[in-house]
Amino acid sequence: MPEKRIRTRFAPSPTGYLHIGGVRTALYAEFVAKQAGGDFLLRIEDTDQSRYVEGAVESLCSVMKQLGIEPVEGVWLDDTDKIIQKGDHGPYIQSERKHIHQEYAKKLIEMDKAYYCFCTAERLDEVRKMQELTKRPTGYDGHCRNLDADEVKKRLEAGEQHVVRLKLPEEGTVTVNDVIRGDVSFDWKLIDDQVIIKSDGMATYHLASMADDHDMEITHVIRGEEWLSSTPKHIFLYESMGWELPVFAHLPLILNPDKSKLSKRQGDVAAEDYLKKGYLPEALNNFLALLGWNPTADREIYTKQELIDLFDLSKVNKAGAVFQIDKLNWLNNHYLREMDEQSYFDLVLPHLNAFKEDEDFKKRVASLYRERMILPSEITDQSLYLFSDQLDYSNVSITWKDHTKEEAKSRLEAAIEWIEQIDDTKQYDAKFIEEYIKEMIQKNGWGNGDTLWPLRVSLSAQEKSPSPFELIAVLGKKQSTARVNQALATL
Ligand code: GLU
Repeated sequence: MPEKRIRTRFAPSPTGYLHIGGVRTALYAEFVAKQAGGDFLLRIEDTDQSRYVEGAVESLCSVMKQLGIEPVEGVWLDDTDKIIQKGDHGPYIQSERKHIHQEYAKKLIEMDKAYYCFCTAERLDEVRKMQELTKRPTGYDGHCRNLDADEVKKRLEAGEQHVVRLKLPEEGTVTVNDVIRGDVSFDWKLIDDQVIIKSDGMATYHLASMADDHDMEITHVIRGEEWLSSTPKHIFLYESMGWELPVFAHLPLILNPDKSKLSKRQGDVAAEDYLKKGYLPEALNNFLALLGWNPTADREIYTKQELIDLFDLSKVNKAGAVFQIDKLNWLNNHYLREMDEQSYFDLVLPHLNAFKEDEDFKKRVASLYRERMILPSEITDQSLYLFSDQLDYSNVSITWKDHTKEEAKSRLEAAIEWIEQIDDTKQYDAKFIEEYIKEMIQKNGWGNGDTLWPLRVSLSAQEKSPSPFELIAVLGKKQSTARVNQALATL
């Protein structure tokens, strides 16, 4: 038999935003497919219409596009950002497959693997209350499991409201074979007959997702841990239909540092929020891919292609993965430093729009902060002092340690002379300026600290800032001497 083509899918529900856990699921599904030269699909699971949020599909695709996670098949955006569906296993929007799901439900009923249930919401409520009162496990009590065929027919013809439920085994166990968790067994007694078609005729996740996975020839079902306990029902469905089971992989939860489940209340969980803040797609992908998996013990930085080549689903951790924002910040700083200069300027310069200075000056400021930045937007506050004409020295000491004002003055007056002599053609080279100024300090028999501190503070009026050499290189001769003069006037 020819080897099966590997096909994976990401199957989010359009409920408003793309959870970062979802991005990790999408990445892993993409890695598995791409590593094997197979196909990665995007399917929209919108059968729960009450949870549907207008515009959610567009925004979901747009976030995935920004992250560079592109399916070869399924729902996607065209060049004008309109929703399209590509591939020959469609439709890929689940609600458009309603009739297909209904056909499968009919088949299951014919095979006595599912049944019509006419129980009203009130009755189910009563049942649940009684179960709670008598401290029994809650769940459907099987009331309609064995209704007479004629009665069912009559009630259907009379248009009575109904759902369709799976007729699950009442005893014995079922074992889920999960790539990440190994064999996990469940007791059928504890699993109640799942609704697969709701009263509005729409399939629930359980039928819709499994039927679509089968029809779309999905070989690996990679999804969040919350679905593990539903897998027995899914296995029952597959086996009842005589379909070959896919590989199941349930990914660990993403946790806060205090080990609670990462939730909206404790911080951002929407991928779009991270992108909006200025986190780079490369950093986010790299970071999320390593939440719960790392191919080596000593490396944190991987290109997407390396991740694809190295990925191994069976090596994903069972335990929850802690979301450490410091690591994401560190990676973002890394990718900001690594990116080509023009892309860096494109990202950062808009944050300096409020300042009137010329483009070249802004570029020098942007380059100065490249090493020191986590998010591009930080540049505005960080570099504010480089754009002000009048500096405020009231909160910093211009003099060095226990040195006198006179000593500081002598250093600064000399520094003005040195700066004025700097060769204009090399004035923006901090290395050159450093060598030159240090040589001058030595010639005067002064110390580095007692000269460079007053000089740096004069140029910045900040307790902390880049070195005076870097500042002179950015500010240029005229501005640097003007600033040192300002500082002198306050001494
Ligand atoms: N629609 C499900 C969700 O958003 C997907 C689960 C799956 O991948 O099967 O959680």
